[in-house]
Amino acid sequence: MKILLGSLLAIVSVTWGMDVLATGGSSGGSLPWVIRQEALYLSGLLSIALMSLAMFLSTRPAWLETPLGGMDRVYRTHKWAGILGGSFAIVHWLVEEVVGDILKAMVGREGRIPKEQFTGFLDVMRDLAKDMGEWAFYLVLAMLAITLWKRFPYKPWRILHQAMPVLYLMLALHAAMLAPTDYWTRPVGILIALLGAAGIYGALYSLVGRIGRTRQVSGTVTVIGQPAPDVLTVSCQLDNNWRGHRPGQFAFITFDEKEGAHPFTIASADRGDRSISFQIKALGDYTRTLGKRLKVGHAVKVEGPYGRFDMARQDSSAQQIWIAGGIGVTPFLAWLDSLQQTPSQVSADLHYCTRDRANDPFVARLEASCAALPGISLHVHGAQQGETLSAADVASTQTGSRRSEIWFCGPQGLAESLRKGLHATLGEKFRFHQEAFEMR
Ligand SMILES: Cc1cc2nc3c(=O)[nH]c(=O)nc-3n(C[C@H](O)[C@H](O)[C@H](O)COP(=O)(O)OP(=O)(O)OC[C@H]3O[C@@H](n4cnc5c(N)ncnc54)[C@H](O)[C@@H]3O)c2cc1C
Repeated sequence: MKILLGSLLAIVSVTWGMDVLATGGSSGGSLPWVIRQEALYLSGLLSIALMSLAMFLSTRPAWLETPLGGMDRVYRTHKWAGILGGSFAIVHWLVEEVVGDILKAMVGREGRIPKEQFTGFLDVMRDLAKDMGEWAFYLVLAMLAITLWKRFPYKPWRILHQAMPVLYLMLALHAAMLAPTDYWTRPVGILIALLGAAGIYGALYSLVGRIGRTRQVSGTVTVIGQPAPDVLTVSCQLDNNWRGHRPGQFAFITFDEKEGAHPFTIASADRGDRSISFQIKALGDYTRTLGKRLKVGHAVKVEGPYGRFDMARQDSSAQQIWIAGGIGVTPFLAWLDSLQQTPSQVSADLHYCTRDRANDPFVARLEASCAALPGISLHVHGAQQGETLSAADVASTQTGSRRSEIWFCGPQGLAESLRKGLHATLGEKFRFHQEAFEMR
């Protein structure tokens, strides 16, 4: 993610910089006004480039899963591209409004860059684009605030977020109409036109409801179980279009059109019969009441599979340490399930962190699965039993000079504390793969 965002920022900045060097930048004004004008262009270019990337990534391009490390990462990149794009929009606004006023007060209006002159339709469109950019900016700012304010509930956030393609199109029009006209014959203009085209494609694709359609199949609920008061097991039989999945992948499931799709890991291996199952924990309003609303025979839509939390990506020369926290056990259930079908030489330490090992619905299943897999050593850590897992515990299992490969799925707080602790003890001798259960 950092490489992609960093590269985009660098490419846009270097292209703009080369343009300034080649043309001498904005002409006809004094140096402070020239600097302000170019800062306005650069912040605007960076903002629209990042927002275009965010818009394109929102289409769930499955071909980007391999370079970015899974659809959860694609969404993370989408989120940070949007946040950074919004931040550069703030800088753009500040340069336009605040720096402009400061310069007027300090050096006077005389050295201002003369505005490009237009007449007729173009003039009307430019005025409209200027206003649209401003309205869209305020709305994007509000969206940015509620995205960063984690306490803002997910559902209303998701509804408001659906306005983003429209806001993006308003900003794209603003950029297209207010960028200097001679940009369009130079590399900087061509770059922004290409990024803008990708963003407009993303916005329109989203507005016509095409996102994920090509990977969507229908199915029926075949089994519903409740292994614990807050966990639901749901199995589904899918239609012929289901292309199968790799253990550890997830899918977006729609049980109810009004509610929309929720992402859940497929907690079973692929048996080639298009049957999949999920373990769903009551983590919010919808999942808390799902058990009451589902019945065997209920129609479902499943979109996927997505994700790269994939055993096939393991480095066989590295020591394998698998860590599951709570419902983050689901990809490991699928891994163990697939190992039962095709026993292999995989050896790993599997740590399962749970609140109460005595009443946990997954402990018995993990024990049964691991009993048939001599290479997998299961370690259950019950918090109520005083058995919390620390980075030191993980580091102590490191043997010899081998690198460790850690596969983690669980709460973000646990991931961060383990990562930090492992850096302190193992330095660079480990690789940390994490499946994020959060997309916002
Ligand atoms: C890749 C992935 C795999 C997951 N696998 C599992 C699993 O195997 N088992 C399990 O119990 N949970 C899993 N989750 C979490 C699950 O998606 C949420 O717990 C569920 O959507 C909560 O919905 P809610 O309306 O009950 O809760 P809310 O209180 O509305 O939401 C709680 C949180 O869930 C997330 N969420 C809610 N709705 C959606 C949505 N439509 N799309 C994306 N995220 C949403 C948001 O981060 C939100 O903050 C997974 C999440 C992801 C991203």
